[in-house]
Amino acid sequence: MHSAPMRTIHDDVEEVLLSADALADRVAQLGAQLSADYAGRDPVLVSVLKGSIVFLADLIRAMEIPLSVDLMEVSSYGSGTETSGQVRILKDLSASIEGREVIVVEDIIDTGLTLNYLLRYLWERNPASMRICCLLDKPARRLAEIEIDYTGFTIPDRFVIGYGLDYDERYRNLPYVGVLRPSVYSSPSEE
Ligand code: 5GP
Repeated sequence: MHSAPMRTIHDDVEEVLLSADALADRVAQLGAQLSADYAGRDPVLVSVLKGSIVFLADLIRAMEIPLSVDLMEVSSYGSGTETSGQVRILKDLSASIEGREVIVVEDIIDTGLTLNYLLRYLWERNPASMRICCLLDKPARRLAEIEIDYTGFTIPDRFVIGYGLDYDERYRNLPYVGVLRPSVYSSPSEE
């Protein structure tokens, strides 16, 4: 059997914006800072599926204090690259956050509309405190004013993929954050 030359997800990347090493270093710093700030406070890290899972998995292993994790899923983007402005809760918290010290762990904040909605929703559940830890901040297109307490990197207004972030559900498994080749958006994939 003849096999075609293997095409990988790396072939669709135009540029690497943040290398795996740069991500690891910064996530380690964020974890150390959170461990210090939340020592003795037993925080719950509330994360949003699916884009945040890789960041969350690395971040909690960079933290040395007792903590718990809960996951929500909200829909914001469809299969394209533009935000719809519409937010729907697809999966809710599995435990009460009343009286808890909440750290919202987000992959990326772009317009801020998704997080703005989520924060209002979470405040209604009466946490003792709530702070935001976001890996990537894309301030250029911000529509909702949001105070981010912990930021990994501030990035330019480009659509990025990798380290959990997808384009049409693909590329989440890239170990770095990159920019897609424009041809991937515009042409049907070559089989
Ligand atoms: P916002 O509501 O802040 O505009 O968008 C938040 C969500 O949109 C993120 O959690 C993420 O799922 C998605 N998003 C925003 N910018 C990007 C991007 O550059 N790449 C990818 N893959 N998703 C993005």
